[in-house]
Amino acid sequence: MKILSYAAQNATAPLAPFKIDRRDLGAEDVQIQILYCGVCHSDLHTVRNEWQGTTYPCVPGHEIIGRVTKVGANVKKFKENDIVGVGCLVDSCHSCENCKDDLEQFCTKGPIFTYNSPDKHTGGLTYGGYSNSIVVDEAFVLHIPNNLDLAATAPLLCAGITTYSPLRHNKVTEGQKVGIVGLGGLGHMGVKLAKAFGAHVVVFTTSPNKVKDALRLGADEVVNSKNAGEMKKHLNSFHFILDTVAVQHDINAYLVLLKRDGTLTQVGVPPEPLSVHVGSLIFGRRNFSGSLIGGIKETQEMLDFCGQHNITSDIELIPIQKINEAYDRLVKSDVKYRFVIDMATLKEVV
Ligand code: NAP
Ligand code: ZN
Repeated sequence: MKILSYAAQNATAPLAPFKIDRRDLGAEDVQIQILYCGVCHSDLHTVRNEWQGTTYPCVPGHEIIGRVTKVGANVKKFKENDIVGVGCLVDSCHSCENCKDDLEQFCTKGPIFTYNSPDKHTGGLTYGGYSNSIVVDEAFVLHIPNNLDLAATAPLLCAGITTYSPLRHNKVTEGQKVGIVGLGGLGHMGVKLAKAFGAHVVVFTTSPNKVKDALRLGADEVVNSKNAGEMKKHLNSFHFILDTVAVQHDINAYLVLLKRDGTLTQVGVPPEPLSVHVGSLIFGRRNFSGSLIGGIKETQEMLDFCGQHNITSDIELIPIQKINEAYDRLVKSDVKYRFVIDMATLKEVV
């Protein structure tokens, strides 16, 4: 089936309309009309080949909310007209140790991401959510709670799970002091979720104009990370810090804010290596770790949690025609706090 998408043809070209093929519906597959797709900084890193692994044409988008239009003969969990989600994963081997532990993102045969991954069905590449429809194995399709605004729910599929998973894995709980570095798409979800887990939340921002919003979103304190004096006040005090920054920055400035045995988990993926002073780790036996999205089971758990606690993203809804402008604003940290594309604006224009 030929459908319309927005694609980049190379690392410097703007995204533009492009026709792609979706596979025919298989017995285990769900066909989804895409209603909304969030805009993740990973889309931008990939489109501009900042991680140097992009194959073109590239159709990004892994925060997908849509309506089921057809189901395959063996599909059990979904039916026509259901509202569903698709996140960063569309396939995995199902049989390795990590898949069996519901951690498909670490599939040892290689997880199949929603875009820029080898597609075993077509022999080509996977194409993401900046498009009118998608066909996905039902094992990678999520149920969406029916009380949440659909456009504002889209970012939960990546920004939500990417912050939920490390907060849970590190057992963030009531009364702990938790830092969130960077108030963008991931960061603002991290604030809402850490707050819902009962933590005392401190936001580190480079944007003084975001202080009011950080407090509104649930932060108990906000630190201007460019102000050494403000940073110093928090030395040796955090149980856990989640770093969502997408560019090179001094990680040691945050490591030294951890208490003894505290953990800083990196989820932001700057293209260049970060340099860690061993001294920031050995004094206080501190931990530095990373986390990658979350498995399908945990993603469903996160969506259900957000349904129960009425948690969605703060979004700016844009027509697909504004996507290149949105990317330029992302680079400038000018996002409040996730762009979501209204996919009804993607019409036959070519
Ligand atoms: P985003 O919306 O652009 O947010 C990033 C935030 O980082 C900015 O809003 C800004 O917040 C802060 N920042 C920017 N420049 C900075 C600098 N020079 N120093 C310190 N902070 C700076 O991006 P996102 O969509 O949240 O994604 C963030 C990163 O996570 C990206 O690298 C993305 O690829 C990665 N990611 C990882 C996973 C995973 O599974 N690990 C999943 C999704 C995304 P302030 O204005 O508050 O400073
Ligand atoms: Zn993402």
